[in-house]
Parts: sequence; structure tokens; C-alpha cells
Amino acid sequence: MGKPTGFQEFNRELPTKVPAAERVKNYNEFVNLYTDEKLNQQSARCMNCGIPFCHSGCPLGNIIPEFNDAVYRKNWEEAYHILSSTNNFPEFTGRICPAPCESACVLGINKPAVAIEEIEKHIIEIAYKNNLVKPTAPLVKSGKKVAVIGSGPAGLAAAAQLVKAGHAVTVYERDDKPGGLLRYGIPDFKLEKNVVERRIEVMEKDGIVFKLNSEVGVNVAADDLLRSNDAVVLAGGSTVPRNLMIPGRELKGIHFAMDFLKQQNKRVSNISVDAEDILATDKDVVVIGGGDTGSDCVGTSNRQGAKSIKQFEVMYQPPAERTQHMPWPTYPMVMKTTSSHEEGAERFWGVNTLEFLGDEDGNLRALKVVDVSWEQDVMGRPLKFNVVEGSEREIPCQRVFLAMGFLYPQPAGLLAQLGVELDERKNVKAKEGVYRTNVSKVFAAGDMRRGQSLVVWAISEGRETARKVDEFLMGHSVLESKDAVNQFDQVF
Ligand SMILES: Cc1cc2nc3c(=O)[nH]c(=O)nc-3n(C[C@H](O)[C@H](O)[C@H](O)COP(=O)(O)OP(=O)(O)OC[C@H]3O[C@@H](n4cnc5c(N)ncnc54)[C@H](O)[C@@H]3O)c2cc1C
Ligand code: SF4
Repeated sequence: MGKPTGFQEFNRELPTKVPAAERVKNYNEFVNLYTDEKLNQQSARCMNCGIPFCHSGCPLGNIIPEFNDAVYRKNWEEAYHILSSTNNFPEFTGRICPAPCESACVLGINKPAVAIEEIEKHIIEIAYKNNLVKPTAPLVKSGKKVAVIGSGPAGLAAAAQLVKAGHAVTVYERDDKPGGLLRYGIPDFKLEKNVVERRIEVMEKDGIVFKLNSEVGVNVAADDLLRSNDAVVLAGGSTVPRNLMIPGRELKGIHFAMDFLKQQNKRVSNISVDAEDILATDKDVVVIGGGDTGSDCVGTSNRQGAKSIKQFEVMYQPPAERTQHMPWPTYPMVMKTTSSHEEGAERFWGVNTLEFLGDEDGNLRALKVVDVSWEQDVMGRPLKFNVVEGSEREIPCQRVFLAMGFLYPQPAGLLAQLGVELDERKNVKAKEGVYRTNVSKVFAAGDMRRGQSLVVWAISEGRETARKVDEFLMGHSVLESKDAVNQFDQVF
């Protein structure tokens, strides 16, 4: 602990942001860095609580009090080594993690939690600036070859760990750039793409080979990969979006969120868009789905100059604060207002869309919606909804973005060719902690295995899977285990 009285002296403060009216003029990141003094004060708030619940709140088991202490002492090298011992990509999580660690922070019981995510971002940015981020591959190689399919955070983390263990790693990616949803899902204003590219450069220096425009199961035969590698890691993500099959779905102007977001990410990077432009400019936009993807559609629509933006969520509005059903240190499902919402959008809960209405040319002109009220069980969980009588109405709009989540990975192609068994949710069946599929020497990680989730979970799964692959190839693993951190927790 840096300063015993820090948590009493300093309040939680987040870095300043570029004002909303300014930042919507471009796609740049807009969260400023702390001053040196502020960073020092924020790290000083970590209070040596004795049992740091933040460790277990973080899916990576990040060793948070120790890196806060090193930051307080301005020992950047030590802070970086502690952080990178559990997290391959703090520059991603430091920007876009929902920070379940902060929900579990002991200080958070009666004061605002330590600003862990921001501190993490500062450690890695200082590390890059000080040239501390270097390749990690050992000189002695194992002679084993591993193919990783998919270059999202799960595939990247698996590749980074496997190369650290001395294996030769090739990552196959069907897109023209590596990064998965970091590259072509999450908008630049949350994560600029030079941050992804900077990391890929380090990984290439580490000897990882990226084969782009290579869709395994389509233009690369899955069997060939199995024959020519000692192990294969499936990290293809959860890519089948939830549809809204109601009357009028065929009208022009209704798009899946990812089709819209991917195009804009390409434009920002000056990569040509090879389909008809999907734009919100001068349109009345409705985003259906109240989660992160929906919020990204709001931010992107504002930047494209939409006339109006509404976001509809069929669920009820979450509570503003923890309830008795979501006590500390659990991750609370409370009302979240993102920076995109701050930039302007009307938000509605308990709204169900019944029909898309079109004009005579087949263009979307409105939605037919109703309000719904929810029945909940004693734990506050939703049971069923009832339509509010007399609430049916039309909402004029010319663009709808469907942001209702993802169902499962694409079953055709890769998974069908390999004959990989799926679980009851149609994700790849491979037990957590084991990560092996029914096909010999084939492992699975990230959204493709666990279903739609978070970047921090994808990194965690990529790391754990790499350790299991290393054990499979070598009989034991030289890679760090997340459990080691948890055992440390239990001893103290
Ligand atoms: C719009 C959006 C915003 C999000 N925002 C956040 C956020 O703010 N914070 C957060 O924590 N999480 C967020 N998420 C969730 C997060 O991005 C995912 O949980 C995470 O990226 C999953 O990582 P992954 O590596 O498992 O899969 P992905 O990132 O989906 O990567 C899978 C990769 O595999 C490739 N692939 C698939 N099949 C093949 C094949 N056969 N051959 C070759 N390549 C293949 C795909 O092209 C893709 O590049 C967001 C998701 C979306 C859609
Ligand atoms: S990765 Fe996410 S949960 Fe883990 S310490 Fe960082 S912000 Fe917290």
C-alpha cells in the first residue's frame, strides 16, 4: 500500500473527457490522461484491505493492490511487470472493460471504488512510452506448431501465451486485419485502432505469423490445419446475431448493428467498404437493444449526424443502485449511462416492437411498438411481460439497428468440417478449465466457447487455454496459472 491514509484524503476522480459537443465531430478517443499528481493520488486510494476482493472480481486475477502500490511509488517497470504477468493486453481492458474488479473493491463498500481500470490504462501507456513492452518468446523453441483460428482477444491472448512457451504459432483470420471485435466491432472512439495495431506489431516481432483473409473451413481446409499442427485453438467468436423476425423485416433501412459498426470502423481506417453504405446521416434512428453494442450504435449515429436517436430495450429499467439481490461484491446489474448516451439519445425501457412499417417503395418509415410491464420473481429476476393496454403507437424512423446480442458461433464451415460437438446453446462444447473439444488436439476459447461475453473474459480464456495446450504438448506447462493468484488470496 502506497499511502495508508490515501483513501481518506482523496476522492475517486476519473480523467477529464473532451466535451460531448466537441467529441462527436470525430471518431477519436476522448478520455484524457490523468496528470502525474492525480495518478499518484488515485493509486494512493488503494487501502491495503487485507483480502483484496478485486483479484477475484477480475476474470484475469489481476494483482491490483500490488500494481497500485508500484504506481504510487512511480516504479513504472515494476507496475508493468505485475500487470503484464496476468494480462496480455491492458491497453484494451484499460479502455473498455466494465471493470467488475471495481464492483468488488473493498473501498467500494462505503466509498467510491479505486479507479482500477484507469490506473491499468496508465501503467500500460507509460510502459509503451518507456519502451518496456517487448517480445517475450524464449530463445529455445519447443519444436511444436499451433494454429489459432480467430484473432479477437481470445485468439490473440492464446497466441501470445503459446509463443511465450516456445511454440511456433500461426493465427488464421478471415478478415483483412487482425483484432476480431477489437478491430471491426468496437468503435474507434472507445478504442482507436492504432492501439490494436501497436500490439499486433509486438506480437509479430515475437514470431507470431498472422494469415489474413484466411477463413478456415472456406478457403483454408480445416483438415490441413489439423494435419500440419500439433494443436489447434478455436477462437472464432460468437457471430450469429439475434434477429427480430416480425412483419416488415425485409424493408430497406433495417440492419444488424455489426454491419453498421464494421463499415464505420473501416471508413475511419481508410479501408474501402465493399457493400452498400449503411449510414445514419439525417435519419431518425431507432436502436433496438439496450446493451453495449446498442450504445456503440448510438455513438456512431451521433457522429454520422443522425436527425434523432432513440434506443429501445424490452426489459425494465435497471435500478440506479445495488439492491438487496445484488450485494457487494457481486457485479451489480444497475443502470448504466455510457459516454455515447451522454452525447445524446432518448432511452426507453419496457418497449416491444411489433412490426416494421414501410412506404410504397419498400423503405422503412416507422415502427409499431407497445409498452410492456414485467412480472418479477422474489430475486428481482424477470418472469414474463404483459402488454400495457392502449399503448400501441407508431414511431417514425428510417433506420433501425438491431443490437440484441449474438446467439452462437457460425455452425457451417469450420465447426462442421471439424465435427466439433456443440453444447445446448450451440457454442463449442469444451469444459471451462479444460478447454478441450471432442476432436483430438482441438481446443476452444472465448465467445466461441462461452457465448457472447467480454474482452476481459476472452483474454482470460485465451490464456487458460494456452496453458492447457502447453500441458498437452509438453506434459506440463511453463505458463502462469490464474489459480496461483487465487491460492495467494486464500493464504492471506
Ligand atoms: C459492438 C460490440 C461492442 C462491444 N463492446 C465491448 C466492450 O466495450 N467491452 C467488452 O469487454 N466487450 C465488448 N464487446 C464484447 C467483446 O468484443 C467480445 O466478447 C470479445 O471480442 C470476444 O473475443 P473473441 O476473441 O472470443 O471473439 P471475436 O472478438 O469475435 O473474434 C473472433 C475472430 O475470429 C474470426 N473468425 C471466425 N471464424 C473464423 C474462421 N473460420 N477462420 C478464420 N477466422 C475466423 C472472426 O473474423 C473474428 O475476427 C463488444 C461486442 C460488440 C459486438
Ligand atoms: S481487466 Fe477489467 S476487471 Fe480486470 S483489473 Fe482491469 S478493469 Fe478490472
